[in-house]
Amino acid sequence: MPKERAVTLEAQAQLLDLIWDAILLHAMDGTITYWSMGAERIYGWTKEETLGENSHSLLKTEFPQPLGEIQAAVELEGRWEGTLVHTAREGRRVTVASRWTIQKDEAGRPVAYLEINNDITHLATAEETHARLAAIVESSDDAIIGKNLEGVITSWNRGAQQLYGYTTEEVVGRSISLLVPPDMPDEIPHILDKIKRGEKVDHYQTVRMGKGSRRIDVSLTVSPIRNAAGSIIGASSIARDITEQKRLQAELEETNAELEAFAYSVSHDLKAPLRGMHGFAQALLEDYGDQLDAEGREYAERIMAAADRLHGMIQDLLEYSRLSRARLDLQPVSLRKVVKAAMAQLEAQLRERDVRVTVREPLPEVMGHPTTLVQVVVNLLSNAAKFVPPDRPPEVRVWAEGADGRVRLWIEDNGIGIPADYHQQIFRVFERLHGEESYPGTGIGLAIARKGIERMGGRVGVESEPGLGSRFWIELSKGEQKR
Ligand code: ADP
Repeated sequence: MPKERAVTLEAQAQLLDLIWDAILLHAMDGTITYWSMGAERIYGWTKEETLGENSHSLLKTEFPQPLGEIQAAVELEGRWEGTLVHTAREGRRVTVASRWTIQKDEAGRPVAYLEINNDITHLATAEETHARLAAIVESSDDAIIGKNLEGVITSWNRGAQQLYGYTTEEVVGRSISLLVPPDMPDEIPHILDKIKRGEKVDHYQTVRMGKGSRRIDVSLTVSPIRNAAGSIIGASSIARDITEQKRLQAELEETNAELEAFAYSVSHDLKAPLRGMHGFAQALLEDYGDQLDAEGREYAERIMAAADRLHGMIQDLLEYSRLSRARLDLQPVSLRKVVKAAMAQLEAQLRERDVRVTVREPLPEVMGHPTTLVQVVVNLLSNAAKFVPPDRPPEVRVWAEGADGRVRLWIEDNGIGIPADYHQQIFRVFERLHGEESYPGTGIGLAIARKGIERMGGRVGVESEPGLGSRFWIELSKGEQKR
């Protein structure tokens, strides 16, 4: 290269240093002859370190096509443009938009390539994230639809095609009202108004119309889509088919109602023959008692006792069934009053076994149904007094604790305890762990407690170990302040 020309190039090169892009010159064999400040900034090597090195091996260049083709294109057309991936000094991968031109000598022979590289790593990463997200949306089984603020469909995934039956080509560009049943015309404007205000619509159950006017029960979540500047430009909706879920729910409700009605009527109908059994056994004893021997009289007494027991079970079952169906209006109830009322009801039982009940104040207010709550506490207190070995004086402790708007009432005894395997089971109807002889009962007390508490929006549970007593708890919302 003539000297003057080299000097000019050098001067130009200094100017090039002012440019933010990486600018490098490399000879036909890749040897670096110029390295701009921009290149140093992007790749981390200084000019001194790179001059004389091979550009492609230094930068571990990943080419989108063979290098030979690129060189041919530059020679033929004078330029080449494309995306290259380089590895910077500290190992970071840099994606660049690269433009190559060729330097020729006076004779027109190519001497070097001028490479100008614009760092687009952030764009490439964003594009990759975008592609990844798009793939997730596309593969989702939920129907995911994009629309603009006028309600025009802008995107439509595979799930949407499956749910509604339309292909992307059929719906993109059309109004979302295509999916809304004619009897719900206000729904879309209403949803779009919320979206325009920046609000989200969460798990909204409604009906949509698929191809061929097929009605589909869906749960919809609609969220605003914002552009880079934060302005709302549309909405994305996710719809899940809940047709099957709704059908099962209706079926379950119907079966439950039927079962409850059945239990109720059976219990009622059982009462009459039972009264007969009891009555005639009693008449037998009263009128013919003197003609029976001791064994005969005992049989008659056993019939009466069995009838009494069955009567008790039927009463409890009726109560349980009533509790399942009754309307329970909740109001603030003082747990102190509830515990007091329960203890009054159990006075005879507590006195008989000389039970010591310690109540730790304060007992706060909860949201509940007063008579049901008293019944629940009666059942728990009565068990606490009952399931204690005969040689041990029963001791019961009652206290409450509260957190996050909930109140837990604890009832602790010093009784026989319950193995962990049975902590759930005992709350079911007729589940008993003991024979009637050792501890009498119907096996419905805890089922009633659970049903009652759950109908009040609460929970019940127990902590216990065999031999170490039991701690039953009920948890309800804290009572609201009366206005
Ligand atoms: P019942 O008391 O009529 O038997 P429940 O439904 O109240 O029926 O209780 C079910 C079973 O759970 C009881 O039979 C008993 O085995 C067990 N259980 C309930 N409360 C206690 C307790 N405080 N200590 C030990 N076992 C208990």
